[in-house]
Amino acid sequence: MSFVERLVCSKCGTIYEAGKNPVMCRKKDLGRLDVIYDYDGVSSRFNRRSLASRESRDIWRYEELLPVSSRFAVKLGEGGTPLIRTRRLGEKIGMKDLYLKDDTRNPTASFKDRAMAVGSAKAVEMKKRDVAIASSGNAAASLAAYSAGAGMRCHAFVPTDASAGKIAQLLLYGASITRCGQVKKGEDATVQAMLAAVERFGYYPCPSFGPFNPYQVEGPKTIVYELYEQRNWKTLDAILVPTGSGCLLTGIWKGLRDLRELDLISTYPRIVAVQPAGNQALVRAIQKGTPFDRIIPDPYPESVAGGLLDPYPWDGDAAMTGVSKTHGTGVSVGDRDILRAVREMAASEGIFAEPSGAAGLAGLEKLLSEGGIRRDEQVVVLVTGSGLKEPDRVIGMLEGKGAGGSRERP
Ligand SMILES: *Cc1c(COP(=O)(O)O)cnc(C)c1O
Ligand SMILES: [Zn+2]
Repeated sequence: MSFVERLVCSKCGTIYEAGKNPVMCRKKDLGRLDVIYDYDGVSSRFNRRSLASRESRDIWRYEELLPVSSRFAVKLGEGGTPLIRTRRLGEKIGMKDLYLKDDTRNPTASFKDRAMAVGSAKAVEMKKRDVAIASSGNAAASLAAYSAGAGMRCHAFVPTDASAGKIAQLLLYGASITRCGQVKKGEDATVQAMLAAVERFGYYPCPSFGPFNPYQVEGPKTIVYELYEQRNWKTLDAILVPTGSGCLLTGIWKGLRDLRELDLISTYPRIVAVQPAGNQALVRAIQKGTPFDRIIPDPYPESVAGGLLDPYPWDGDAAMTGVSKTHGTGVSVGDRDILRAVREMAASEGIFAEPSGAAGLAGLEKLLSEGGIRRDEQVVVLVTGSGLKEPDRVIGMLEGKGAGGSRERP
């Protein structure tokens, strides 16, 4: 049973019936079709007590707040990741209540599995044979795995410098891979190529960007439900979110709003967007109060955090709303700080994140030093992807090659 009431375009306000399964706004205005639920209907079944009695630990535990039935899902064990209360790391930086949400432990080793599990289930419901994605690697690897499980063909458009680990995943899951170099500044070549293929061949678009697929956005919000269940519904002060396109952050914001609509929480934690110094258009806009439609993307994004290099913040509008409504903030971090965070997290807590996955910790350390977060607050850092995807960069770092193969070095 679905509780989706309707979908509404974030740009032009056009309303779509849930049963019609729209994917993009027909006005081609690149608005995101926000999925609206019947919260009265949901609330009769979705509450603290009913949740506590559920057995499944994957994202489908929260099926009433997902836009597709679990019977269409390929289930690989997405979600249900541990929330780890740090000991040595917290001690080192002087925090008693610092938690890491370890989303490296998803089927394809990044949080993108939450999104792609939902997006691919919708494709199965719609009887699609071919799905298409533009991604720096993690989302494509994830969609390829779910497509393999569903017997769909996955067409992946990835940048020329995608990491070897992610390419290996794509190859083994059987995706067809097109590598796209950036030609025009400020333009995302992978997205342009994907859109051309969608237009020409009728593929189902499923990148982890809201304007091109509204269903997958609903997957990552399950992180929020898990956090509150795992903390026994205690209030939280801040969540640090590594941010590229802003889709993950948009999901976190949606998850918080869902819980508030259902009266399951009464206050919001501050959402903090963390971006690398070499691609920080959103953070700059948040700090300066620039309206979203006047954001100027960084012309040539560069950082060791390859998962955060989206040239354009497709979901930046909703992400900025989430940050401002929760009185959050944005912070940018340099490659050295990101790599230090990778090392600290591994050496003091035993969690090996890729640079993008550890950026949240680097952001926390910067905000602690600037006073944006206090050491006595209850803080969760999202750890979004596994270090096993990009071991070469980390090996370079350990061998004393400074930033470990970062492209920012001369
Ligand atoms: C995609 C990704 C992010 C950022 O997500 P956006 O939705 O693009 O903001 C963060 N960390 C990792 C490991 C990722 O793969
Ligand atoms: Zn529209």
